Amino acid sequence: MLMNLHTHTHHSPDADDTVAERIAEANRLGLRFMAVTDHVEINRFYPAEYYGETESEEYFYDGGGVFERSAAEVCALQQESGNVRLLCGAEIGQIPQDPERSAQIFNDPRTDIVIGSVHELPGRPDFYFLHYDEEDIPALVTAYFEEVCRLAQTDCWDVLGHLTYGLRYLPNRRAYDLTPHLELIDRILRTVIAKDKAIELNGSGLRKPQPYIDPDLTLVRRYYELGGRNLTISTDAHNTKYLGYGLYLLEDMARTAGFTELTWFEKHQMQKVKL
Ligand SMILES: [Zn+2]
Ligand SMILES: [Zn+2]
Repeated sequence: MLMNLHTHTHHSPDADDTVAERIAEANRLGLRFMAVTDHVEINRFYPAEYYGETESEEYFYDGGGVFERSAAEVCALQQESGNVRLLCGAEIGQIPQDPERSAQIFNDPRTDIVIGSVHELPGRPDFYFLHYDEEDIPALVTAYFEEVCRLAQTDCWDVLGHLTYGLRYLPNRRAYDLTPHLELIDRILRTVIAKDKAIELNGSGLRKPQPYIDPDLTLVRRYYELGGRNLTISTDAHNTKYLGYGLYLLEDMARTAGFTELTWFEKHQMQKVKL
């Protein structure tokens, strides 16, 4: 197994296990590259009290603190990670809502890799918490891709996270027709390519009863067809037992789409490894 460049540890409010536990499992699996990318929801960079709010399950606060604790644990173990190359990273949510604080995380000298993600539309909770029976779904999905488009135009990220996250919790996700959104998706992919950044094949959906890959093969092929060659692979594991789940399948899918190498990052410098 080559890589898993998107993982969450106990520093993320919704994930378990220490970095040391991940390193042990990564070595057992024979992973060559692993990035720890705990959640930094940049629109809630400070603890809840700063905003006059209380902690809740719906909103992750203190992104700045999460990054500090996560980076400290990763950096303390980077020299003792065995055969796996341990990368220090962050998954920054909602970068367009605070590009300056995003730059602070991106430019931290410890950071190897930043995943840029859209988990929320401005003023709304994470897609996980929406009530889909009350939503105009095509309009919601359009708003999602428009927000990803805004994210793609910013600079402080290396990998565009789970391109189709806005669909993840739709009642019938696999049947949803993306055709009306393809023009907008093309615009996102062309921006990623023009900026020489990367997209990821995120396998977290493989753990669902109706499995899917985010993005699916059609969109990965489209990225390749447009000239995109920078692809990472991840399981978005929130628990050590899923660290390697589906990685072989994701590697096969990357080959099927035409890729002969995968991408990883050392202090934001793009590196390649043969697939
Ligand atoms: Zn995410
Ligand atoms: Zn994630």
